Amino acid sequence: MKKRILIVEDEKNIARFMELELQHEYFDVSVTYDGREGLNRALEQDFDCLLLDVMLPGLNGIEICRRVRAKSDVPIILITARDAVMDRVAGLDSGADDYIVKPFAIEELLARIRSVLRRTQGNEKEIEKDDVIHVRDLVIKPQSYEVFFENKKLELTKTEYDLLKLLCENKNRVCEREMILQSVWGYNTEVETNVVDVYIRHLRSKLKTESTPYIETVRGVGYVVRE
Ligand code: CA
Repeated sequence: MKKRILIVEDEKNIARFMELELQHEYFDVSVTYDGREGLNRALEQDFDCLLLDVMLPGLNGIEICRRVRAKSDVPIILITARDAVMDRVAGLDSGADDYIVKPFAIEELLARIRSVLRRTQGNEKEIEKDDVIHVRDLVIKPQSYEVFFENKKLELTKTEYDLLKLLCENKNRVCEREMILQSVWGYNTEVETNVVDVYIRHLRSKLKTESTPYIETVRGVGYVVRE
């Protein structure tokens, strides 16, 4: 069953970014931009993890955390602004399990979510997405960050690996340039979308094949890996 996550974050672009990324990782995601509504939802509905921004309209994240904690053991991760030391101390005092500092890489957030879920539920198997990804003669092993192509290990940079993994996880689905950019380079990136095209070229040169190319261009939209 999908794990249910509540995001309470008033910066809509960050909330949207987290929502998309977490959905992509098979979480069932709810979002609210207001602290008071966040508290109500956290108390009324059943979630597996709460992600609370600290500075919120209505009610701040630390106060939400304190009130939720009085009634429930749900894992809570606070999202704090950079260098807001007081936030972190107050946050952990209020019963939060962990905190993450903006701006953060999505992988860091995912690692923290998995970690709090593991601590509280002890069902690592269900949460860790360590399943091997297969596309024709391409095999990706996320646990070891290894990629095999036609039975030979493929040397990739971290960015190339992230890009290839994203495309293969979404095989037969078109990945838009903008989505690729957000997933691989992060929401606060200042990188131009054409950097995606450059990395696609790198990957294509490493995935030479006699048959249909692995990565297909969808003109004006993005890229798709086809089975
Ligand atoms: Ca905020």
